[in-house]
Formats: sequence, structure tokens, C-alpha cells
Amino acid sequence: MDYKIAVIPGDGIGPEIVGASIKVLDKIAEKFNHTFNYTEVLAGGAAIDACDNPLPQETVDICLDSDAVLLGALGGPKWDNLPGDKRPEAGLLGLRKSLGLYANLRPAILYEELKAACPLKPEIIGEGLDIMVVRELTGDVYFGEKGRDGDFAAWDIMKYTRPEVLRIAKKAFEIAMKRDKKVTNVDKANVLEVSRFWRSCVEEVAKDYPEVELNHLYVDNAAMQLVINPKQFDVIVTGNLFGDILSDEASMITGSIGMLPSASMADGKFGMFEPIHGSAPDIANQDKANPIHGSAPDIANQDKANPIHGSAPDIANQDKANPIATIVSVAMMLRYSLDLIAEADAIEAAVKKTLAQGYRTGDIFSAGMALVGTTQMGQKIIDNL
Ligand code: NAD
Repeated sequence: MDYKIAVIPGDGIGPEIVGASIKVLDKIAEKFNHTFNYTEVLAGGAAIDACDNPLPQETVDICLDSDAVLLGALGGPKWDNLPGDKRPEAGLLGLRKSLGLYANLRPAILYEELKAACPLKPEIIGEGLDIMVVRELTGDVYFGEKGRDGDFAAWDIMKYTRPEVLRIAKKAFEIAMKRDKKVTNVDKANVLEVSRFWRSCVEEVAKDYPEVELNHLYVDNAAMQLVINPKQFDVIVTGNLFGDILSDEASMITGSIGMLPSASMADGKFGMFEPIHGSAPDIANQDKANPIHGSAPDIANQDKANPIHGSAPDIANQDKANPIATIVSVAMMLRYSLDLIAEADAIEAAVKKTLAQGYRTGDIFSAGMALVGTTQMGQKIIDNL
């Protein structure tokens, strides 16, 4: 099959980790007989440098015309002093909005080989963890009416509409059907009217998924349960505010930011896939930032074949970034947007095998393991595919 993938390498370590991930995808294409057509597009700092706009319309158009979007990371100190709407972050928020992404999927996976990085006791984590937090992205206090009465009061209205809750609940149940068939709804229904409404909508959707077990937790209890008994969770579905906090808590119990993928999904199967970490300017080479597109201000030439790895010899970078978060984001893309389940499983198995063989980038290194750079880690994963 042929698939169209829009690729946004972005800033800092973005081009390195995306480059390593594209090589993994190329291996999947060869092994499973697919064709992935990549179109590289600009957003964030790279787009500001090239065309003074963190999100060129052409980027949005190409993303919308693709089956899925793969993103590295946006931002860095170089652009920190620009006004809000000109900053790289405006590119990310604009992408989420213009692509209609409303469901944020954040898996918190603790690999058995990296158990030492987990701050929880070994008896709590057992053989490892695999939790999926499904967070609503477009409603809640972040987007409700807000106001201020001078220095006396301020408010942000917490609001959800029925269609908003139904579609995120449906997404969570669909995901649970591909996993262990358990959904935990997290709200504050003992206090908040919006949570009682949210809960009734989730229960309505649950009727269409009789195979999936549904339970409810108040958010304060959920925060506690995540640290005292995280193994009880499969899929957690929750609103924007609670999800913001719980997804960070869930990811931190897995110990390493360089390992964790995420997806932001729209209606249907379209989604944008990215590591949860940022552009890590401390380990990226800022002087030679973005060798992939630095010399291509003419964004009309974006679909020249695979600039992502074609220019590899010119890439002078520190080779320190862990590419695994982006490589497993690619696995999520295959699973959720392209319905290529065996291919996604193959990538995840290759990552596990590589870790079991003892290969580690600096961020997850421990004594007795083999220290490798970004490129070598990517190659080891390919060798294990
Ligand atoms: P960061 O995630 O970039 O880095 C935090 C720490 O984790 C750093 O020490 C970094 O070296 C390390 N780290 C991150 N990813 C790593 C990897 N793959 N391998 C090894 N180590 C890794 O967060 P920050 O420093 O707060 O932000 C840096 C820039 O990234 C900022 O401009 C910020 O706005 C941006 N950012 C972008 C996104 C995004 O594009 N989605 C998300 C967060 C931050």
C-alpha cells in the first residue's frame, strides 16, 4: 500500500530524531512491502527562519492532504524573545487547531529493562507498565469563557458540550478495544456539575462497547492510584485540565523523557505523532541547527525526495539524542492512523530487543550497558526488525 506522510523535523534535536525514525520506517516499507511518500514541511523555528511565520499555510495544506503527520520538536532559545504569535509554540498550537486534533494519546510505558529509572518500588511496578492516557484537547477551562474583575477576582469557565465528550469517549473505547479492554474515566463528579455531565456521556458511549470494562475515579484518587497501584490501569480517559496533570504524572513514573511517544488525533484515523519531549537545545548543535532544511528557504521545493536522510553526511550534530520516543511515535502512527498493526508491533518489539541487548543513549545509560548515539541506536533497532 501507498501512504502519504507529512514530516515536520522541526528544531534542535528534531531533525536527528526524525531522521533516525524515517530510516526505521523505510525498513518497515521494505520488509512489509509498503510505500511511504514523505513530504517534508516547515513549522516552528525553522519556518520562522525560512519565511517569518511559525506555521506557513502550505504546511497546513500538505498535512491535511496526508494520511498522518510525524513531528520532531519545535522551539529553542534562538526564538525565545519573539512576540507570542511569532514564536515556535504558535506553530504547534496552530497545527493542533487547524488539523482538528482533539484527542491526545499519551502512553506511559515502562520497559522491563529500564525499571531502575522508575521512581516507584519494584513490587509496585512488577514486570513493567503500559498505561494509555486519553486527554481531551479542545475544551474545559482552557477554552471556556474567562474574565477578570480588576485585582478582586478572576475566572475560567469549565465547560464541555455533549459532542465533545461523546467523541473523546468513543476514541478511548476504540483504543481500549485494541488493548486490554478496560477504560477508567477520571473526573470530579462528587463536586463538579460538568463532571457529572461528562460521566453520563461516557456511560452512554460505554453501552456501545459491552466488551470493555468501565470504571470511574475522582481525579484526586486517580493521582494517588497512579503511584500506589498503576498496574490497575489500561486506558484512562479524562478532560483537558485533569489530563494535562495526570499524563505528566503517568509519564514521569516511567523515568525517561526520551522514551515516550504521543499522538494527537482528529476524527477518523488522521493524527499527528510526536515524542513528548522538546527540542533539547542543550544536546542539539544550535550553530548548525536544522541542516535538513536550513539551506532551503524556498519551501516550494519541499517534496524533493527525502531530504531527511539524503543529506546525512552534512549533518554535524552531537548525536546524543535518544531517538526511541520518536521511533515509537512512528509505531503509534502505523497502529492508529494507518491500521498497520503487525508493523507497529514489529517496531515495538525491535525497541524492546535493542534495550534487552544493553544498548543505551546517554539519557538512559547505566553502568554495564553499551553507550550509543542517536544514529547507532536507530541502526540497532533497524537491525532487530
Ligand atoms: P526538552 O524536553 O527539550 O528537554 C528537557 C531535558 O530532557 C533536557 O535536558 C534535554 O536534553 C532532555 N531530553 C529531551 N529529549 C531528549 C532526548 N530525546 N534524548 C535525550 N535527552 C532528551 O524541554 P525544554 O528544555 O523545557 O524545552 C526546550 C525547547 O523545546 C523549548 O523551546 C520548548 O518550548 C520546546 N518544547 C517543544 C515541545 C514540542 O515541540 N512538542 C515540547 C516541549 C518543549
